[in-house]
Amino acid sequence: STKQRVCVIGSGNWGSAVGKIVAQNVQNFPDLFEQEVRQWVFEEDYNGEKLTEVINREHENVKYLKGIKLPHNIVAVPDVVEASKGANVLVFVLPHQFVRGVCEKMKGHVAHDARAISLIKGLDILPEGITLFSEEIGRILDINCAALSGANIADEVAQEKFCETTIGCRSVEDGETFFKLFHTPYFRVNVVRDYVGVELCGALKNVVAVGAGLSDGLKYGSNTKAAIIRRGLMEMRKFGKTFFGGVESETFFESCGVADLITTCSGGRNRKVAEAFVTSGKPIDVLEQEMLNGQKLQGTLTAAEVHEFLTARKMVDEFPLFNTVYRVIYEGAHPESIVRDI
Ligand code: NAD
Ligand code: 13P
Ligand code: CA
Repeated sequence: STKQRVCVIGSGNWGSAVGKIVAQNVQNFPDLFEQEVRQWVFEEDYNGEKLTEVINREHENVKYLKGIKLPHNIVAVPDVVEASKGANVLVFVLPHQFVRGVCEKMKGHVAHDARAISLIKGLDILPEGITLFSEEIGRILDINCAALSGANIADEVAQEKFCETTIGCRSVEDGETFFKLFHTPYFRVNVVRDYVGVELCGALKNVVAVGAGLSDGLKYGSNTKAAIIRRGLMEMRKFGKTFFGGVESETFFESCGVADLITTCSGGRNRKVAEAFVTSGKPIDVLEQEMLNGQKLQGTLTAAEVHEFLTARKMVDEFPLFNTVYRVIYEGAHPESIVRDI
């Protein structure tokens, strides 16, 4: 029988935590998976050395997931075509602004029988409409792509603290493979069919998290934040139901829905930077640079993308929370609008 070769595309904070899980799990299924897992790392200099060389020597991503040892069967590779050569399972875990460029490089080099799963929290918004990254990856590489999203702050998962996650997958067989690859006693996977809902939740909750951070910056307290989370959940569902036929309400009760909203609005980077936006008055890109050490925000970009999409449909007013987050971040509206205008 031919074994599955797994490649992880991306190696940021979440990419590194997920690489650890996947590389550990393939060891539980030696008949099913090749034991070497390659991970594409966007090459950069780290204290005068190449980051890939440091990772392969220390078995630690010293820049993006400091203090967590990685299994020795995961190998950092700086060239994405080389990393994904011969892979049957591709795990995409990149900041959403880089996905299309990376896929274009991989095009024509991916095995025909490969399947993919997207852990990306963001939407690809083109003038013609919204594309899910699972669909965009599937289209560019001509393969099937599932989605994984949940209440999964990377540092906590890497420390093996209990959490859940949701995989959305059309194919039952692929769902079983992905379950084996990701599920652990501390990282509990539930597989559902509604991959569109899973992916939408992961993207849109980041916009809500920016709103929660604005509220924290204004010292509004827990009740206000709960109200923002509730309104956000309603707008997420409305967005899904309005623009995507098959989205199911039940999906919002999975880890990818309400649970991810709760965790991101308390412990996430989008929340943290939006809070500092209010308290420091500095621009978002400056704060991202100063506070995140190379990690990337997704929520402010997604707010702009969603706004552009809604503007084209003259539906901005139907999503007052999404719209207010946009106006505060990009148009200088007063942060208090986050409660006044929703
Ligand atoms: P990150 O925020 O740590 O981003 C840094 C990564 O981007 C690094 O690997 C860096 O090398 C890479 N990068 C920088 N410039 C690049 C370029 N020009 N081209 C390609 N790559 C470049 O990344 P992450 O935390 O792994 O997030 C990936 C996705 O997973 C995001 O959509 C995020 O929302 C989602 N996610 C993150 C977390 C978390 O807690 N960090 C949890 C769940 C989901
Ligand atoms: P942040 O990107 O806001 O840190 O959110 C991480 C996340 O998606 C947790 O599930
Ligand atoms: Ca199930």
